[in-house]
Amino acid sequence: MNTQLKTTMPDFNAYPDARGRFGSFGGRYVPETLVPALDRLQEGVRRYLVDADFQAELVSELKTWAGRPTPLTRAHTLSKRWGAEVWLKREDMAHTGAHKINNALGQTLLAKRLGAKRIIAETGAGQHGVASAAAAARMGMPCVIYMGAVDVERQSPNVGRMRLMGAEVVSVTSGDKTLRAAIDEALRDWVSDPNGTYYSLGSALGPHPYPYLVRELQSVIGKEARAQIQLQAGGLPDVAVACVGGGSNAIGLFHPFVNDAGVQLLGIEAGGRGSGLGDNAATLTFGSPGVLHGTYSMLLQDKFGQVQETHSVSAGLDYPGVGPEHALLQSCGRATYESANDEETLEALMECAKYEGILSAIETAHALVGARRYARANPGSRILIGFSGRGDKDMPILQRTVLKDLL
Ligand SMILES: *Cc1c(COP(=O)(O)O)cnc(C)c1O
Repeated sequence: MNTQLKTTMPDFNAYPDARGRFGSFGGRYVPETLVPALDRLQEGVRRYLVDADFQAELVSELKTWAGRPTPLTRAHTLSKRWGAEVWLKREDMAHTGAHKINNALGQTLLAKRLGAKRIIAETGAGQHGVASAAAAARMGMPCVIYMGAVDVERQSPNVGRMRLMGAEVVSVTSGDKTLRAAIDEALRDWVSDPNGTYYSLGSALGPHPYPYLVRELQSVIGKEARAQIQLQAGGLPDVAVACVGGGSNAIGLFHPFVNDAGVQLLGIEAGGRGSGLGDNAATLTFGSPGVLHGTYSMLLQDKFGQVQETHSVSAGLDYPGVGPEHALLQSCGRATYESANDEETLEALMECAKYEGILSAIETAHALVGARRYARANPGSRILIGFSGRGDKDMPILQRTVLKDLL
């Protein structure tokens, strides 16, 4: 079936096209004032991303500072319990505790090459903020992080981490006071000084060339995992599973497998507390096409096109949009997307902690739910899970939920 599929699939390496499109998705929907900055970034990406000196510095920093390659771990007990062969690609072992560092480090190196004097970034849960602050400190650049006032409140340990690494954290009190408003504010800052400032965007979304740039920087996950699983398991997986917020860890895992017809790609979104608008952040599962933050992709919006607030137990998946490349992979049937609700996610997190001795981020636990579901439907299959991050940051919410129930 999969080989049949392949003959009808587009050539994924042809995306994004010259206009920054992934099929009909992606592109650049921005005010005129942002166009010169994006053109400059695009030229920088074209010039430096494949440049030998740039790549050498990136590879060296990833290895000696950020801890790559991350291990591929066989989950012995989950394999037994689920009746499948389960492998974890351990981004929780990367510096600052998640895959975010791959992107933040790469963009900060690019900013240096482009002659920028300061880094700005947005953050929701704080993970991209922490990674950006760390990378900026390492490269000796000042850093400003925009964060919604609501998130500053509920993610205070991460605010402290950013400040310790020398970043200025700006609490955004406009709009919905969460990630959406923080991105708007960062874009506003960038427009006011597009040459001196570099905007480091945290997921595979936004206007071209960000979805492409972030995918390329995160593809290190899938490239390593593809080689490791062949070596350690003796072949490719039947499926690669990852959680999807904006979609950066998932596209980083998926992309190196996109031409392997025998490898299914499965993205798991935040199903929250139900299927109603406002009760989840499952954009590809429940959304419809539209424009948000400069890109045409799937969105959670009402019938008037008003973008809706989202709900998820994991702050890192709590975003009403998704990267345009996922919208393409879904529309042509190359990848499928499902959701996991808050309750089953917390349960999977506990199962993995108890039986593998690994505390996952709540975001990551969504992928565990999808993997377990796949295992039950496909006994004996080989499953590769993108283990996007560790759960230390989630202790306050775990104290209030699962640990309370355990007492
Ligand atoms: C930020 C984050 C995510 C969600 O972001 P993507 O861009 O969808 O990868 C998932 N897991 C962890 C641990 C995160 O920090």
